[in-house]
Amino acid sequence: AVGTAALQDWISRFSDAIAEKREWLTELDSAIGDADHGANMARGMGAVVEKLGTGAPANIDDLLKTVGMTLVSSVGGASGPLYGTFFLRMGMSAGAVTSLDGSALGAALRAGLDGIVARGKPEAGDKTMFDAMSPAVDAFDAALAAESSVADAARAASDAAAAGRDATLPLVARKGRASYLGERSAGHLDPGAASTAILFETLADTIA
Ligand code: ADP
Ligand code: MG
Ligand code: MG
Repeated sequence: AVGTAALQDWISRFSDAIAEKREWLTELDSAIGDADHGANMARGMGAVVEKLGTGAPANIDDLLKTVGMTLVSSVGGASGPLYGTFFLRMGMSAGAVTSLDGSALGAALRAGLDGIVARGKPEAGDKTMFDAMSPAVDAFDAALAAESSVADAARAASDAAAAGRDATLPLVARKGRASYLGERSAGHLDPGAASTAILFETLADTIA
């Protein structure tokens, strides 16, 4: 089972990894967007870590609600409301509990993904964060269905997110700023798919 403290550790690892990869994310966004994805994510996650401080949230919904609301209010770009909604929905699905078993964690991740779909209307192949997140959530569920441990399921999800990120390379963007470029968006990784792969990599590292 995965507890509140482990999920808080995930958030802190995600923030650190985003800070470390900030330049790369911005480079990706400079090719097909407005060169701020690294800055947006670093500002948002920095605000989240500051807000959480050294306190211990009472439960998983409390933790993820703080993360989501802070992202929505501190990030101006498209990614703020999208990631914000992901964490808010994930927390709502988890509920006021202090630990999740594998299937509850899978359901929470899927609720987060569904929140992104409700908000941004991304479809498979639109060259967005959805293209990393949707295969990741599917891989998590598939691994659990095959009786893998939660740690192995999280690693399978991370691998699938990385593959989904890489698969955005040849795609022509159909959502977000990159879609303004039309065919010229092909040949570049989607920045949001890249940050989503980091999200799942840090989850796997946390649960390992
Ligand atoms: P902005 O585009 O406003 O500058 P960011 O650069 O922070 O915001 O985030 C861009 C990322 O947001 C894209 O790479 C893409 O993955 C994601 N994105 C943009 N629009 C959508 C959408 N409608 N649905 C899902 N993801 C989207
Ligand atoms: Mg941008
Ligand atoms: Mg922007």
